[in-house]
Amino acid sequence: MEKNKILVTRPQLPPLQEFIPLLEDIWDSRWLTNNGKYHQEFEKALATFLGVPYVSLFSNGTLALMAALQCLKIKGEVITTPYSFVATTHSLWWNGIKPVFVDIEADYCNLDIKLIEAAITPETTAILPVHVYGNPCDVEEIQNLADRYGLRVIYDAAHAFGVKYKGTSVLNYGDLSILSFHATKVFNTIEGGAIICHDLKTKKRIDYLKNFGIADETTVVAPGINAKMNELQAAYGLLQLKYFDSAIDGRQHITEKYRKGLQDIPGVRYLENPVDVDYNYSYFPIFIDKSELGSSRDDVYEELKNNNIYGRRYFYPLISEFPAYRGLPSAKGLDIAHEISRQVICLPLYPDLADEVVERIVSIIEGMVRVKARVSHLKVYSQIKRNIE
Ligand SMILES: *Cc1c(COP(=O)(O)O)cnc(C)c1O
Repeated sequence: MEKNKILVTRPQLPPLQEFIPLLEDIWDSRWLTNNGKYHQEFEKALATFLGVPYVSLFSNGTLALMAALQCLKIKGEVITTPYSFVATTHSLWWNGIKPVFVDIEADYCNLDIKLIEAAITPETTAILPVHVYGNPCDVEEIQNLADRYGLRVIYDAAHAFGVKYKGTSVLNYGDLSILSFHATKVFNTIEGGAIICHDLKTKKRIDYLKNFGIADETTVVAPGINAKMNELQAAYGLLQLKYFDSAIDGRQHITEKYRKGLQDIPGVRYLENPVDVDYNYSYFPIFIDKSELGSSRDDVYEELKNNNIYGRRYFYPLISEFPAYRGLPSAKGLDIAHEISRQVICLPLYPDLADEVVERIVSIIEGMVRVKARVSHLKVYSQIKRNIE
């Protein structure tokens, strides 16, 4: 990779000199996986750090999602969002569950609570929402609805590591939440994931499921899969925890700098922190309104690329547009999701991104304001001036 290329993210690694003694310990013990001491320690440390009762570690977030659905024996239809990473819907497909897409709201790009009820049928067993970009879904209303219809709620919380809602972890809502610790996520163990649950019985069931269903030497209690996190990743994760808070501070600094730089550019919208939320600054999506900026999202995306800056169009296309899902009846409509998906670019965001790069990105976008938008802005300005005079 070219050195001066700016990518959408750059994984944070723990200091190598701190990792080496842990590697030496693992080498000495020759215990590499299967619920070793670092695995146990990391599960406990994570539960404390996140403020949740039980954590079960996984080799990645996708297998955690698949196991969460297995754990609750979800069947039939599950209501979910088209505006996410494909793994959300794939986990349903791998469990033989029919995804039912419901449109999102434009403010935070999460499932639109007003539309969920109409999508419930006698076959519906669960809701699988995503806390997109780490902004919490309407967790209270979703729970009310689930209680009224006897549905389970599994949150894809892959973006929501460390996020709090009304002072408590957002992972405490729903029946289960899943996390991803993939290299590109706000907290990484290279690859990795977890299921958060609220009682020991469920935690035991999840632990069986991720290890072939093995209960002891001669007992297999369920057709489980192999989805365990290994000792090297668990040790690495333990170190990562020490640096998470300072990484968030760095992300917050970059986010605020972007917001300040972009606030007066017509046709560029960004998300403010939602109320009652301790945010994790996991992504910085902007939404381009071509009629105001004069340039399209793809124009901006290409212009950034010409300057060696690689944003990502998360999430475009929608999951409902991929061949496996576009034939579903619920793949039609979804107007807000389509519109947002055509407008979005996630700008580079990571703790040690230089201020100078943020300034450069802002000025490139500023330079995209086309004459038409400038003129109409001038018109508004002179109108205001006249009104004052
Ligand atoms: C990353 C991600 C996943 C999958 O996690 P992996 O650890 O990469 O398997 C699932 N859902 C969402 C929303 C994600 O962003």
